[in-house]
Amino acid sequence: MKILFVYPGIKGSDNYNLNKVFNKIFSSEPPSFGILAALTPPSYQIDMIDDSIQKIDYNQSCDLVCITVYTMNAPRAYQIADEFRKKGVKVVLGGWHPSALPNEAKQHADSVVIGEAEEIWPQLLKDFENSCLKSFYNQLRIVNPLKIPNPRRIFNKRHYLSASVQASRGCPNRCFFCAMTNRKYGRIYRTRPVKEVIEEIKNISPKFFQFNDNSLTIDPNYSKELFISLKNLNKKFFCNGNINILNRDENLLKLASDAGCCAWAIGLESVSQESINYLGKKTNKIKEYASTIKKIHDHGMMVLADFIFGFDTDNIDIFNKTKDMVSDMNLDLVTFNVLTPLPGTPLFDKLKKERRILTEDWSKYDFKTVVFKPKNMSPEELQNNTIEIQKIFSSYFNIMKNIARSIKFGFYPFVFATTINFQEKSAL
Ligand code: SF4
Repeated sequence: MKILFVYPGIKGSDNYNLNKVFNKIFSSEPPSFGILAALTPPSYQIDMIDDSIQKIDYNQSCDLVCITVYTMNAPRAYQIADEFRKKGVKVVLGGWHPSALPNEAKQHADSVVIGEAEEIWPQLLKDFENSCLKSFYNQLRIVNPLKIPNPRRIFNKRHYLSASVQASRGCPNRCFFCAMTNRKYGRIYRTRPVKEVIEEIKNISPKFFQFNDNSLTIDPNYSKELFISLKNLNKKFFCNGNINILNRDENLLKLASDAGCCAWAIGLESVSQESINYLGKKTNKIKEYASTIKKIHDHGMMVLADFIFGFDTDNIDIFNKTKDMVSDMNLDLVTFNVLTPLPGTPLFDKLKKERRILTEDWSKYDFKTVVFKPKNMSPEELQNNTIEIQKIFSSYFNIMKNIARSIKFGFYPFVFATTINFQEKSAL
């Protein structure tokens, strides 16, 4: 029997041009598929399609299609699911979006997995073999990280120049817009044994990878142990972190740099402390931004930062204030997003209750399109000003400045900075 894992793009591979090239350079196979592949009996044949870079052949022979869904790609995922179901193939949907809206997902699937899939998967396969798939598989317990196997990387030699690794899950912070942590299993921080993570990294073929953990600063002692063990593997990577620990723990920065870290991705979110407090991100103190960026640079790593506009505490002045402050920060990549109320978050529930949601066309929940009524400006003002500020920081002049700065950090940071800066520009 054959299982086909499908990673949906936003619109399908035909719709990508330049982005398709960038997708190939720094995208990687989703670790969730590799983990499920590792938990699948060897009697199954397994294949995977990445819809953003490959064309889907709906006539191929397969018995079970499993699709991972997040909000922005949900319409495309449903389209793919419907096509396979028309051919009589059973379809399972899982991921953050079906976990938040299982009844919606069920309209396009034979089964919906709610929550983490590792413990559910063996039973789901047995039910599939016995032709008695359940409509919903609900993971009620937190999955023990010791039970998460190393992914079976059967896909990465085919298309990806990069890989992704997950050493930990969850984040105890409760930023009210964050889809990751607004479910019970998302809030509990769990780490995998360092030895297993290192074993996994040793076995990935690309030299460059990303840690897709929510943050590698939640337990600095764990991350230090990980970085020390990584030091001699001759790999390059980037990871996510929070500003508070990165500001005060220079030993962590040194160990990360020695381990091959090229860049830290940090959700700076806003230059307004009032907005930071409003969104509940206790890790961020505006006054620590500039000094932290300098410290990370001093240790030979780049800083990739995200900002969000549209909080109820933001008014139209926030754009000029952000422009002035960010210009002095020397960030290596800066991305400006609009606040996006993902289903399943307190933010979505609040805006829905206040009748401020403008559309539930999930393809517009791309962090670039305004989908709700902001409090202190019009949706058009929020939309246009966000695009304008991104254009300023993605101008050729600023991109060249970022690339020039990256040269001193080495070859991989240079390639990485070039790719991500042009990728951001091409998305405008
Ligand atoms: S710190 Fe990051 S991962 Fe954690 S809740 Fe906030 S936004 Fe989400």
